[in-house]
Amino acid sequence: MTKHLTSFLARTNGATPQSLPIAGSAQVANSAGGYSFAVDDWTRLRRFLVLGSEGGSYYATEAALTADGAGATLRCIALDGCRVVREIVEISQAGRAPKNDAALFALALCASKGDDPTRREALAALPKVARTGTHLFHFAAFADAQRGWGRGLRSAIANWYGAQDAKNLAYGAIKYQSRDGWSHRDLLRLSHPTPKTQAQGIIYHWMTQGWPGVGTEPHPVAEVAQIWAFERIKRAGDEMEVASLIREYRLPREAVPTPFLTSPLVWEALFEEMPMMALIRNLATLTRIGLLSPLSQTAQKVVAQLGDADRLRRARVHPIAILAALRTYANGRGARGKGVWEPVSAVVDALDAAFYTAFGNLSPSKMRHLLALDVSGSMSWGEIAGVPGLTPREASAAMALVTGAVEENVEYTAFSDKLVPVQIGHRVRLDSVLKQLASIPMGGTDCALPMLWALKKKVMVDVFVVYTDSETWFGKIHPVEALARYRQETGIAAKLIVVGMLSNKFSIADPNDGGMLDVVGFDIAAPQLMSDFAAGTL
Ligand code: CA
Repeated sequence: MTKHLTSFLARTNGATPQSLPIAGSAQVANSAGGYSFAVDDWTRLRRFLVLGSEGGSYYATEAALTADGAGATLRCIALDGCRVVREIVEISQAGRAPKNDAALFALALCASKGDDPTRREALAALPKVARTGTHLFHFAAFADAQRGWGRGLRSAIANWYGAQDAKNLAYGAIKYQSRDGWSHRDLLRLSHPTPKTQAQGIIYHWMTQGWPGVGTEPHPVAEVAQIWAFERIKRAGDEMEVASLIREYRLPREAVPTPFLTSPLVWEALFEEMPMMALIRNLATLTRIGLLSPLSQTAQKVVAQLGDADRLRRARVHPIAILAALRTYANGRGARGKGVWEPVSAVVDALDAAFYTAFGNLSPSKMRHLLALDVSGSMSWGEIAGVPGLTPREASAAMALVTGAVEENVEYTAFSDKLVPVQIGHRVRLDSVLKQLASIPMGGTDCALPMLWALKKKVMVDVFVVYTDSETWFGKIHPVEALARYRQETGIAAKLIVVGMLSNKFSIADPNDGGMLDVVGFDIAAPQLMSDFAAGTL
């Protein structure tokens, strides 16, 4: 008994082993055998909406992470369902998350499990969150899994169709007719929207019953001429006809019959009006078929388009999508071993720049930052946003570079059970930094190391930024205790920002300390939030 009593007293001295909770704190056991703080349900909701649960984590399966995120969402709905709907709309509309799936899932939860006002708000928000037919199919799959097709849901779907611009609706349907086992035909038959215009009527008819014979004359109603061209291209005899239909009717790649997708002539036509996301996804193909080559006009156009901040924002291109494209394209090899190409260096540079541009204009806090990347074993497991091979470890390095590019006084470090400084030059390309970090050996997790290292080396730090899953367990002292000691011995009121790279419920930050902040990794709003917090203007 004496042993336990002395051990307890030792823990009141500000040095608690991470395998035990700090005496009197609200710490909870994490999944790694250590103790962390639990973030509140609203933070968990945001983590879930931004990071999703795809790919799972080192500690939890995708199913478990999903159940966890859904649980937090349900508790928030019980507290204030309308606030949940507002959070969903805000994150989804601003394109803050790499994927819209978690927002659609949470909206479906609000629409079925909320009280009356919550359900009404959720259904009214449907066109704001489900902005494309594909989004609507996802939502239908989620809604179908948890409730019957009541009148409210049917009329929300009907309103969704009514609110669509005819041209956009046609264009979206040409690209994807169905997803997740749901099609426009199914949804139109369930919801019976009344067409408000002639064009809508023709489009609904095409979606449910197909096209009534394809003549050689274009359809006289302008909004549906593209559908006529789509039916026409299916019967096209040669690449010239395909290319001219693409040019004249702005048909997307998805409309092109597979045999013609190897034709440079066809890709040239597609390239002329290629939307931003399609361009980012097809850089390798454009290069492989020889259209995108060094110093070519195409290369100049691609570089200009990727450098267009307005277009990036309007297309809601998330930095993760650019990072994914950069990793693959710079590699010169497809992820699944399909196809090789010679990357055009100007395009790789443009993708690198676009990654930063996609976060918008950021202002620095001018504070001294120590950026600390958790490179322990658990951070190398799982995939962020379903991007093949993009681990939390790589993703956090990319996030650190964003802050590193904005702030002037930045020191990079990486830690697991030891901490090592990392030399990252200014303007180094993202993919080479990721390779550099990948070679650091990994080990156990001690999130207190950044503060202990700074104390030992007498490094003056205003803001510690730790990129981690907060599954800390290895150290002899908790991160918050190390920070308290740092503050005390240096006299600096140092802050701690935890960039959560997984949608779990843990944080090393104490929610009751105003000098600590939890942000969600890869939320495009995170870097500015971090800078404001560092500057004390939040
Ligand atoms: Ca770990």
